[in-house]
Amino acid sequence: MRPFAYERAATAEDALRRHAAGDGAVAYLGGGTNLVDLMRLGVAMPARLVDVARLPYDRIEHRADGGLVIGAAVRNSDLAADLGVRADHPLLSQALLSGASGQIRNQATVGGNLLQRTRCPYFQDISKACNKRDPGSGCPAIEGDHENLAILDHSPECVATHPSDMAVALAALDARVRVRQPDGEDVVPLERLYRSPGDDPSRDTTLAPGDLITGVEVPAPLRMPARYRKVRERASFAFALVSVAAALDVSGGSVRDCRIALGGVAPRPWRAHRAEDALRGRPATPGSFRAAAEAELAAADPLPGNAYKVPLAVNLVAAVLTDLAGEAS
Ligand SMILES: Cc1cc2nc3c(=O)[nH]c(=O)nc-3n(C[C@H](O)[C@H](O)[C@H](O)COP(=O)(O)OP(=O)(O)OC[C@H]3O[C@@H](n4cnc5c(N)ncnc54)[C@H](O)[C@@H]3O)c2cc1C
Ligand code: SF4
Repeated sequence: MRPFAYERAATAEDALRRHAAGDGAVAYLGGGTNLVDLMRLGVAMPARLVDVARLPYDRIEHRADGGLVIGAAVRNSDLAADLGVRADHPLLSQALLSGASGQIRNQATVGGNLLQRTRCPYFQDISKACNKRDPGSGCPAIEGDHENLAILDHSPECVATHPSDMAVALAALDARVRVRQPDGEDVVPLERLYRSPGDDPSRDTTLAPGDLITGVEVPAPLRMPARYRKVRERASFAFALVSVAAALDVSGGSVRDCRIALGGVAPRPWRAHRAEDALRGRPATPGSFRAAAEAELAAADPLPGNAYKVPLAVNLVAAVLTDLAGEAS
């Protein structure tokens, strides 16, 4: 691990100033559970770390309509355990509890969780080429180990997936991310935070260098049965092969409203708009749920080693919606 300087930001403005002074070699430090691992592996080599985990963004504000403003420094375990979150936004709590381990969730922050990097094995191995880590060096995953990589929204330059479970739930909840920039604050819909790899996979998000996440806004509760379900290789300490965050409102045997987002299938949490549109107003039956899932996955372009994810995602979405329909009626 290379030597680095450690600094603690006193305010958001101070963090931005310290980042700007670092000439591109500065990284913000949240809980460090991803960044410090990447520094140990030689994947990330910041000369300075600016600790933003102690900024005053460590509260969960419950709004009158049940919506939330979650500070970026809130720990994943505190967010998952919050009674209001568990009661009104169970998708969020369930998604968080499906990720990592109790110890890691105690340390990890909301801002860091959103910006954690891909778990593609080549990205984490500096002896291998990787367009995301070393632009222009190639993407060995396409011909190599891609069993757990993307089937949607990838490019010939990169087929990595985004690993966060929390972000999948936030996508289904229409969350927005508060971003502090030198000229003020922006509020970015979560769906627009992440970018497709295109011909520049080195950038995971639409944020500019030095942009500081200060919080996440979650709208009023969905008030319909909701569930996060994750398929993985082990019961804990494992990232999603495919996951789904879904909510379903059934009235008179028909789907009045629904939310569906997928994890483990794309370089971003994948909001399944096509499936949602196909379902609204349709009979709430297993046949409709499967047809909607198939409509969403029709856009999939899997590689030979991850084609299994297409039927897995269809089956998972259909199964979760069928369970939710049972609860709703
Ligand atoms: C063994 C293991 C298993 C795991 N399993 C899962 C899993 O199943 N599901 C899952 O979702 N996650 C999993 N994780 C990942 C874990 O959730 C992340 O490591 C964690 O959420 C990152 O949060 P952090 O605060 O530690 O981020 P850090 O490591 O501190 O930072 C991550 C990135 O975010 C940037 N950053 C941090 N805060 C801010 C901010 N406020 N503004 C701008 N940039 C910021 C940093 O510069 C860095 O680039 C696992 C991790 C480990 C080690
Ligand atoms: S899929 Fe992306 S992260 Fe993985 S090796 Fe290819 S370029 Fe690198």
